[in-house]
Formats: sequence, structure tokens, C-alpha cells
Amino acid sequence: MAKILIVGGSLGGLFVANMLLRQGHDVTLLEKALGSLDGRGAGIITHDALAVALRQAGAIVDATLGVPVTKRVTLDKDGSTIGEMEIPQILTSWSRLYQLLKECFPVERYLQGKAVKTVTQDSSSVQVSCEDGSKYEAELLIASDGIRSAIRAQLAPTIHPEYAGYVAWRGVCDEAYLSSNTLNTLFNNFGFCLPNGEQMLGYPVAGSGNDTRPGKRRYNFVWYRPANEDQELINLLTDADGHYYPTGIPPLKVSWKNIADVRKTARDILAPQFAEILEKTASPFLQPIYDLLSEQIVFGRIALMGDAAFVGRPHVGMGVTKAGDEAMAIAQHINNLGATPEALAAYSEERLQLGQQVVARAQYLGRYMQAQGAKGNGDSTTLKRNADTVMAETAVDISALLAQGKAVPVTTH
Ligand SMILES: Cc1cc2nc3c(=O)[nH]c(=O)nc-3n(C[C@H](O)[C@H](O)[C@H](O)COP(=O)(O)OP(=O)(O)OC[C@H]3O[C@@H](n4cnc5c(N)ncnc54)[C@H](O)[C@@H]3O)c2cc1C
Repeated sequence: MAKILIVGGSLGGLFVANMLLRQGHDVTLLEKALGSLDGRGAGIITHDALAVALRQAGAIVDATLGVPVTKRVTLDKDGSTIGEMEIPQILTSWSRLYQLLKECFPVERYLQGKAVKTVTQDSSSVQVSCEDGSKYEAELLIASDGIRSAIRAQLAPTIHPEYAGYVAWRGVCDEAYLSSNTLNTLFNNFGFCLPNGEQMLGYPVAGSGNDTRPGKRRYNFVWYRPANEDQELINLLTDADGHYYPTGIPPLKVSWKNIADVRKTARDILAPQFAEILEKTASPFLQPIYDLLSEQIVFGRIALMGDAAFVGRPHVGMGVTKAGDEAMAIAQHINNLGATPEALAAYSEERLQLGQQVVARAQYLGRYMQAQGAKGNGDSTTLKRNADTVMAETAVDISALLAQGKAVPVTTH
């Protein structure tokens, strides 16, 4: 069995590490961060394919995966419902998935504080150097080190994340804090609110300790808001002490002034249910939204996967499912062809175009959001049509569309 290195110990890295370990390979995972990664993410929308990948990674998937919802609703600014749609889905969280995948992987193979600095390869192996001076060698390397991948920067230096022109404000609010009106009209649904050129969405997720019991859950929100790159984005990524974080501000560093502003705007332009959620969320945080489109994902004995390979804007709700699918493809080709460059080439053949289509589909959904308002005149028919389109197309399972090459666009407006 082969020696295989995985770089990045988040969800993508853990998927593939578990699958290859289960094939009997000698897998070592190198993760830059020290300490627990838990608490990094908020809500995650699941698709059927995600459960398949989790099982293949060795995780037990049962009713504790997340909170089921059956319906999507769109709320108008006054809080009334302007659209409804039946779409059953399970909503989980980054920490729940991380826990499931981490539990399956031996701790002695999950090495932390290992920031990979350089990677080289020759005809028989890949060599890695970490910032702490340690070195590793293996027959293959799978890089799942995220949107700012150090491995991709070395192998494909011209590929960079491109800012989409807007940010996502995110957070989770305890169910127990919410008014009866918000609980009755929004909480149990996948909810939307569509101010001009913006989009608020939310859904229930498990509460502390992955508790899915009514009363113990939380409502996860994602609010997409435009921010120009030169001034507004810099301001949002600057903390209250004036320190600027160009590649992303840590959640707890988000300036209290910006939080106060976004809460005020929520009261002005969102349905009161969502404004209440913003008001009662202890620490809203924000992430700039990027596109990342790779033209090559395999370089001899090295493969990119997960966010290191492609990042589609989160409207598709596909990031984790895509990472799971890519991990399954890598594992299957290694199973068929051994831990060889040919296996990775077969992975690229299968997934390169699909990854590009996910990005394109996500851009289409993002542009639709950005254009809404610019072209809509705000009348009730336009609002209803926007609501129906957004509910029908956001974070739905697009596997069948992708397989048929029908990723973008599926509807013309
Ligand atoms: C607003 C928002 C909402 C989202 N909602 C959803 C959703 O609903 N559903 C969904 O499926 N996805 C969603 N996603 C996307 C999802 O979070 C990611 O696609 C997914 O987590 C896959 O990440 P990854 O493991 O590839 O990379 P990451 O999670 O970024 O992990 C990369 C890992 O590599 C480590 N690392 C980095 N550099 C090095 C190095 N040099 N050496 C060693 N280790 C290194 C990092 O510390 C990190 O642990 C959302 C994303 C955003 C921004």
C-alpha cells in the first residue's frame, strides 16, 4: 500500500484522508492550524451526495446529521410571506461534519501545526517541507488546503480568488431567544428576504452540543451585501483598533461599529423576523465572496481538491458536497489504478469540467441576485417572480444538471 500525504485537515482533507485510509493506504494529514478547528463554520446545506460521501469516509449518518426542513418561504419587508415552496432538505453545520469525519480518522495521523511551505516531485515521489522545518515524502499528495492554497500558489501561480463584489454576513441565533412571531413564521423554514441587489437567507441548525431538539436549535443566516473593493470592503475587514485583514477578518475581530451598522440596516430593509435574528445574534461575522476557477487540478503526483481547486459562490450550497464528490473520485481512481499519476489524471478527467460548472452556476445565481432590483421595479409581480426563482434555484441539488452539462443558466430572466 502507498504512502499518501493530505494537506489541509478541514472537511475536504478529512473526506479524502478517511477514504484512502480505508483502502489500506499509509495516510498522513498535515494541518497548518494548532488546536481545535471546531467552531470555524456556521450552517451547511446538505445534498444526498453528501451522505454518500460521509458513509464512504466511514462516518455514521443518521438522524443526528442535522435539522430537516420541508419548506422554503420568502418574507417581504413587512414580514408577510410572498412565496412558499416545498423543498425538503437537511441542514447541518460545519462543526457537526467536522466531528463526524474527525472521529473516523486516527489522531496519530492528523498532524497539526504543519504549515506546508514548499512541495517538489520527481518520477517516484513528492517531497514536502513545512514551516517548522519538518519534511515528508510520499507517492502522492492531495492538497485540500483551501481557497488560498499554498500548494496551488506554487503549482499554478496565476490562479487567484476573484472578489465577487459582495460579502456574506453570517451568524447563528439561539432559538430560545426568538419571539413567537419569528418562531411561527420563519424558524422551521428555509427562509429568504430579497432587498434590492441583496439576499438574506437562513435555516435552522443544531444548537450547542449538536442538539436538534425544538427549543435548543439555532437559526443560521447568510446575508449577501454588496461592498466595493476599494473602500467598503477594506472598512469591513478592519477591526475596531484599525488593523486590516486583507485575506479575511477573524469572526471575533469584526468591528462593533460595523456590527451596529449592519443591525441598523437590517431593521431598515429586512423583514422584522430577520432583523430580530440579527439583533439577537451575539457575534455576526462576515466573509468576502470569491470565485476561484482552476484550469488544471492535477500536476503529476499532486492533485488539488475542495476549495483549493474551485470555489463557487455559496448560493449553490455545494462546497462540502463538492469536496466529498471529489474525494470519492480520487479514492475510486486510486483504487482502480493504484497510487499513481495515472489515477490522478483520471480524477482530473472526471472532475475538472464539473468543478468549472459549479463555479459558473454559482456566478449565475450571484449575478441574478446582483441584478435584481436594477431590473425589477419592485412591484408585487416582480417580487413574487424573484422569490420563486431564488427559492427554486438556491442550494438545490444540481448533480443531475451538472452531469447533463446543463449547469448555466437553467432559466433565462
Ligand atoms: C458564506 C459561506 C457559506 C457556505 N455555505 C455552504 C453550504 O451551505 N454548503 C456547503 O456545502 N458549503 C458551503 N460553503 C463552502 C464550504 O465551507 C467549503 O467549500 C468547504 O468547507 C470545503 O473546504 P475545504 O476543506 O476544501 O477547505 P477549507 O475548509 O478552507 O480548509 C482548508 C484547510 O487547510 C489548512 N491549510 C491551509 N493552508 C495550509 C498549509 N499551507 N499547510 C497545511 N494546511 C493548510 C487550513 O488551516 C484549513 O484547515 C460556504 C462557504 C461560505 C464562505
